[in-house]
Amino acid sequence: TNFAELGLPELLVNSLARAGFNEPTKIQSEAIPPLLTGKDLMGIAQTGSGKTAAFAMPILAGILTLTGRPRPLTTRALILAPTRELAVQIDEAIRKFAGSEMRLQTVLVLGGVSRYHQVQRIARGVDVVVATPGRLKDLIDDGKLKLNETRWFVLDEADRMLDMGFIAPVKHIARAIGPRRQTMLFSATMAPEVANLAKGLLNEPIRVDA
Ligand code: AMP
Repeated sequence: TNFAELGLPELLVNSLARAGFNEPTKIQSEAIPPLLTGKDLMGIAQTGSGKTAAFAMPILAGILTLTGRPRPLTTRALILAPTRELAVQIDEAIRKFAGSEMRLQTVLVLGGVSRYHQVQRIARGVDVVVATPGRLKDLIDDGKLKLNETRWFVLDEADRMLDMGFIAPVKHIARAIGPRRQTMLFSATMAPEVANLAKGLLNEPIRVDA
């Protein structure tokens, strides 16, 4: 199969081809079609599996269907990652996948750097926020980021997030997002704590093993 057969729009198929992605990986071919129909996902996958495109493509396809509509003055999609390094990589990958045509607005929300620009950009409305849990929780608590209109929620490397003690902020953030969202949770393992978190956050998810 190729990416067009998975149901992705031409703009995304073309940008994937430009990035040298012609054949979907296992997780991409199994996750993208149900994600495009709005299903929640439990993905058992490690770095190297192609999980970034697996969650980015359905989000970008969904944002493309909203072309012409005003952005909510918050964010349409929220992606949580355990570390700054991973958040930076995800943000770069998504901007590459979107190319220039989509005029996608993304913001990185990380601790240890100035809040000012993050807050300014969020207030103008963005498509995608890529964040680490601590700083994001601060922005929510200070009323700088509302997530009630957020449609897509991704937790990447959930097992590492739990190992790093982020369970409380992750649950807090999830509660701030409205129930009418699509949630995708990725973890390298299905440890009991991950299963527990998934039970609370996912609604009748499909499960894909990379
Ligand atoms: P990820 O697991 O998302 O971090 O991706 C691992 C690496 O595989 C990254 O360098 C991607 O650019 C690359 N990659 C992901 N999907 C594909 C694909 N379908 N074809 C070629 N390379 C890919």
